[in-house]
Amino acid sequence: MSYIIDGKAISKQIKDELKDEVSQLNCEGISICLAVVQVGNDPASSVYVRNKKRACEYIGIKSAAYELEESTTEEELVKLISELNSSDEIDGILVQLPLPKHIREDLIIQSIAPEKDVDGFHPVSVGNLCIGRSGFISCTPAGIIQLLKRSEIEITGKECVIIGRSNIVGKPMSILLLRENGTVTVTHSQTVDLKKVTSRADILIVAIGKPKFITADYVKDGAVVIDVGIHRDENNHLCGDVDFEDVEKKVSAITPVPGGVGPMTIAMLMENCVEAARKKSHR
Ligand code: NAD
Repeated sequence: MSYIIDGKAISKQIKDELKDEVSQLNCEGISICLAVVQVGNDPASSVYVRNKKRACEYIGIKSAAYELEESTTEEELVKLISELNSSDEIDGILVQLPLPKHIREDLIIQSIAPEKDVDGFHPVSVGNLCIGRSGFISCTPAGIIQLLKRSEIEITGKECVIIGRSNIVGKPMSILLLRENGTVTVTHSQTVDLKKVTSRADILIVAIGKPKFITADYVKDGAVVIDVGIHRDENNHLCGDVDFEDVEKKVSAITPVPGGVGPMTIAMLMENCVEAARKKSHR
């Protein structure tokens, strides 16, 4: 029997810690506001946005919603972000991705002021992470580190293998595991003999974006497996990139989907919002 890492409970613990901190900040006259920008009405994005607003409410952070038409131009979106950048009322700016195809995501991300970049996607945030300076960290990989630490899973000296090299998960994950003294390998679509590489992992992070792709033959006995993927299976149930039933028997610890990495991403977004307000209060 493996240990099921309860992301829902750990994220609740973090949100409760933040709630106390926000109420303390409120007593000092500091309130926190996150601007949540959504362009178009992609149903999955609407669910994510709703969950983020709910988390804000729970913690005591205000959220200002900007729901823009699908036809919004790049210039209009940049103009809104520039207004939010200079507003004293706004501590963090979240632009829900993906954006409609006619808007360049990289340009939009770069238009957010680094001190309000609570998603941690701005090149300044990524650069700070790479060279070990403080700054906002992409929420999903930051949440995975918290999951491991709060489950008392040692990272130092461990063989850590990541499947996927995306800018929002795989790459920042590799830097964070390095920072925690793991020995890190990043695999991707061009990796030769993926199974051979994943089979040596003590900690396997799976962000491949393919439902139930990772089966027991990809993992070492007793490994820790973190599943980042979110999909709907043939019965419309949520599932991850890992075939949970097959892999669970072989590993020492594993995250479920739902209830694993997903709730942690939102908890770390909240942490970044509180951090933005803390920094502003010291400027
Ligand atoms: P992505 O599509 O940008 O990247 C997938 C990566 O997998 C790529 O780097 C690619 O090289 C690699 N890959 C593809 N096929 C491969 C193969 N056969 N062998 C080895 N590597 C292969 O995805 P992403 O944005 O990193 O997201 C990954 C998954 O995580 C998706 O299911 C996404 O929905 C989910 N996700 C969840 C959260 C959360 O909060 N739980 C956050 C972000 C992403």
